[in-house]
Amino acid sequence: LNPNAEHLSKTEKEVEKVLRPQAFEDFTGQHKILENLRIFVQAAKLRGEALDHVLLHGPPGLGKTTLSHIIANEMGVGIKITSGPVLDKPGDLAGLLTNLEVGDILFIDEIHRLSPLVEEYLYSAMEDFKIDIMLETGPNARSVQLSLSPFTLVGATTRSGLLTAPLRARFGINARLQYYDAKLLTTIVLRSAGILRTPISEEGAYEIARRSRGTPRIANALLRRTRDFAQIKGNGNIDTEIAQYALNALNVDEHGLDEMDNRILLTIIDKFKGGPVGLKTIATAVGEDEGTIEEVYEPFLIQEGYIMRTSRGRECTELAYKHLGKTNYPKGNTLF
Ligand code: ADP
Repeated sequence: LNPNAEHLSKTEKEVEKVLRPQAFEDFTGQHKILENLRIFVQAAKLRGEALDHVLLHGPPGLGKTTLSHIIANEMGVGIKITSGPVLDKPGDLAGLLTNLEVGDILFIDEIHRLSPLVEEYLYSAMEDFKIDIMLETGPNARSVQLSLSPFTLVGATTRSGLLTAPLRARFGINARLQYYDAKLLTTIVLRSAGILRTPISEEGAYEIARRSRGTPRIANALLRRTRDFAQIKGNGNIDTEIAQYALNALNVDEHGLDEMDNRILLTIIDKFKGGPVGLKTIATAVGEDEGTIEEVYEPFLIQEGYIMRTSRGRECTELAYKHLGKTNYPKGNTLF
């Protein structure tokens, strides 16, 4: 249940599209961000201008792609989608930029993974809506400047810390998406179940919601898997009982931590005496990519209070020990 979109199968991507909210009013949660975006969109429309460039950050599955589509819908403009690693050469980017119409949105996912060359090329496009392109090669090579239609760049990143200062400075609108609480996720699960025509009780939806790592993508994925269990093992309806049955079968624990979350905590406690231990060491010990741990697993474990980030590395908290039924919390014996 990796919340990264890259891991989704083709059918899962199709379902994800169907479940994607299309307008501000279908989008649940992130109130502050939405409130501001509504104003910026309305103001840009009134002035007849392209919206300022928008940078969205936050862990995968929280709605960055969804929000960019919504912005395009609400602005009444087109959207072109690409991602940092796909844009290999400045030429790839030039092709996209010159095809944008006035006000269009260019969505670049994983914008922190742009090559420095492509990134630099983006600067003048963002700032002056101009790019230089090379005509011909060899002795006749010359560069000409092309004017672009004013457009809005929406960049999404899971690692805002990796963004260079010059790139960051070129975004007028900056929003950090937060994990969703169980109540908001219940609303999302109920909405998705409605679209999928799956009968579900409010309690059943809550059970899925509270075990979804604060992430809509996971909530929707768990809903679909639970629907399978309800069909085969139950009467097709999702209630608390069948939700619990399904989530246990999927190794999602009572607190919504999945197998990898628990493996990370267990590793820090059993192999490294609860820490502090470096991220690289943890990654090697659990056999997962360091970046994935930092982007996907750690933020949630920190937010929920299982891990602390200290200057010397990651440390498990008393809550992590309790969660795993461990009684040897090293800082448990206070002076008194
Ligand atoms: P990201 O781009 O941040 O990885 P996405 O925008 O692709 O995440 O969202 C993943 C899935 O979760 C989509 O299917 C989308 O429908 C759903 N989703 C995300 N945020 C919300 C929300 N606030 N309300 C309803 N569904 C959401």
